[in-house]
Amino acid sequence: MYSKPFGKRGPRVSVIGQGTWPIPEATALRRGIQLGMTHIDTAEMYGDGESERIVGEAIRGVPRSRLFVVTKVLPSHADRRAVARSCVASLRRLRTDYVDCLLIHWRGETPIEETMGALEEQVEAGNARSIGVSNFDPWDLREAARALRKHRIACDQVMYNLGERTPEDHELPWCRKNGAALVAYTPLGLPTLDARTRAGRVLAAIGRKHRASAHSVALAFLVRHPDVFAIPKASRIEHVKANAKAGDLQLDAEEIAAIDAAFPNRVRVGPLPTN
Ligand code: NAP
Repeated sequence: MYSKPFGKRGPRVSVIGQGTWPIPEATALRRGIQLGMTHIDTAEMYGDGESERIVGEAIRGVPRSRLFVVTKVLPSHADRRAVARSCVASLRRLRTDYVDCLLIHWRGETPIEETMGALEEQVEAGNARSIGVSNFDPWDLREAARALRKHRIACDQVMYNLGERTPEDHELPWCRKNGAALVAYTPLGLPTLDARTRAGRVLAAIGRKHRASAHSVALAFLVRHPDVFAIPKASRIEHVKANAKAGDLQLDAEEIAAIDAAFPNRVRVGPLPTN
């Protein structure tokens, strides 16, 4: 599993991680960790904390330094006191002393200065190693970054997949310029990629050359950018294996061009799409 720095000054993190919503139990996550997908994404929102509990079970016994665990605070818990309460509750469910990155799940009503300050306090308290945001467009990112005093934005987690490539023209340039990682959620698309479609067959053909599935190729295409990580969710072991395979798959220029032509980017109209 290939790893690279998470943002400009961040630790090395597996390029393919694991989403956790909805995930029924810990088996698939555990297998994914064994295969090197040690970047785990969860949130207090998922199943009202159930997802964090399952992550806690999956990571039990794994040396903590091998993992990169991310959780997210709800916008309804984005004031100073609520962020602190949420973070501590997440740590308890995750059965860990700290998260590697603590995100605000999306921008809500609380002034962004207060939320970013509250996230910084969690770093100061030792509960989080870094902070980030999710579903922030470049305007939100700029305001969030301006509100920070000591720390920087480690990542923006947005919906990015072959059917939704507009982050390449919006959030990714901001991340590159500001030393942040872009984390692709719903990286297999909405609806999930169908390898039998015309465009899907382009991926499948490339996959055959690499002994990989169309889905592995789709993920490899996204994480070829030096700043992009992907967090597919898989409950089935065959999917876990295919996703891990993507973390070792290097596409050549011809393959990248073929995928680019089959899944063209488009001009974004309206706000950053979310799931
Ligand atoms: P996704 O990971 O793109 O797709 C998940 C679906 O794809 C599941 O049905 C899964 O099936 C299937 N799948 C996984 N690997 C596959 C493979 N190799 N081949 C074929 N099918 C495969 O979408 P997502 O779950 O929406 O997003 C992933 C994670 O991102 C979430 O779990 C969550 O952690 C995070 N997320 C964050 C936000 C946010 O607002 N920040 C929003 C949405 C999601 P099985 O489960 O049956 O294996």
